Amino acid sequence: MDCGHPRKPLAALAMAADRPLGPASPEIAAVIVAAGMGVRAGQDGPKQFTRWRGKTVLRAAVEALRAGGVGPVVVAIGKDMEHRAAQTLEGIDSVSLVSGGATRQLSVRAGLEALAGKPPELVLIHDAARPDCPAEVIGRLTAALTSARGAIPNLPVVDSMIHAASGQMHRPANREELRRVQTPQAFIYADILAAHRQWQGEPNAGDDAQVAQAAGMEVVLVEGDERLRKLTFAQDFMASTLPSIRTGTGFDVHRLTAGEELWLCGLHIPHDKGLAGHSDADVALHAVVDAVLGAAGQGDIGQHFPPSDPQWRGAPSARFVEHAVALAQAAGYTIGNVDLTIICEAPKIGPHRDAMRARLAELLGTGLDAVNVKATTTERLGFTGRGEGIAAQAVATLVAQE
Ligand code: MG
Repeated sequence: MDCGHPRKPLAALAMAADRPLGPASPEIAAVIVAAGMGVRAGQDGPKQFTRWRGKTVLRAAVEALRAGGVGPVVVAIGKDMEHRAAQTLEGIDSVSLVSGGATRQLSVRAGLEALAGKPPELVLIHDAARPDCPAEVIGRLTAALTSARGAIPNLPVVDSMIHAASGQMHRPANREELRRVQTPQAFIYADILAAHRQWQGEPNAGDDAQVAQAAGMEVVLVEGDERLRKLTFAQDFMASTLPSIRTGTGFDVHRLTAGEELWLCGLHIPHDKGLAGHSDADVALHAVVDAVLGAAGQGDIGQHFPPSDPQWRGAPSARFVEHAVALAQAAGYTIGNVDLTIICEAPKIGPHRDAMRARLAELLGTGLDAVNVKATTTERLGFTGRGEGIAAQAVATLVAQE
């Protein structure tokens, strides 16, 4: 492999969109190293693609940096990982992929070179295997770069430390002098790029702070965070894949009008009026869709099925439910349970309740016991009490898949 030359980005997942930054905010880019095979983790494949808290480790790492104010992200990936990486990062803008090198240092170098066309002011260099970067750490790092050219997060060592040799204690180590070093490590972009370009040392350089120091850059320490621990062993994933529960709520109203069919909870209900509006105006399913989308962090029904789009006119709302469930599954969740309340004076819901529950369970792909349908009136008060419309509200929980 021609390791010494810049590599072209393999794929731009989306056109780079500049972050809306104030004039005083420096532009922060990131290079994430995700080229390793992660064999120590005891997973089926590379650990950056293993599910952790409902998403892949790599996606979580990118999202955490973005939430901390980071703009463009370049991910250095290994051989034959392009498709998987593009898939797992789908929908996140300003992310690009580059081929990593034979060593970590060369992978970082490739990532830095990929940013050279539009150089950022600051760059964070990060391991994909540390997916839970708190925004506070990014804040401490960038603050430190106002007076230094490099900054790294660290934590004190709490265990006793020794030097070992040949399976035996050699001599005690002074833990006061030792620190646990984490990533992301932060640098002035132009400086760390130059340092990597001139690096002549051991190709398996432990981290970028070493490369920076070899180039004469001062590297200061900022406080790290236990959340930045590296996911290394199988138990790291087991501990973190305990069910993560998410909740969403949905509420909807449609007007009752003579001459319309009444669809409620995916069923055609005989009545002298029907609901008017978007699609088949199934107010109950619309509330369920919004609850599922809400729990999945996927916006609302109007964003996915805009009323202005003619393809949804008269569409069965069952399709919206199936789409919302598919989105939740793509985000790593299955339906935990759904509880629906229909609010109207008429028709009576009781006679249809069992059929509604069965239809809802079918659409959600759950057992009957995961679905509940309730009904109430509003004591003849308000628009529902006057029979002018029907309201529905729903709560959904999602459970992270293994
Ligand atoms: Mg609606």
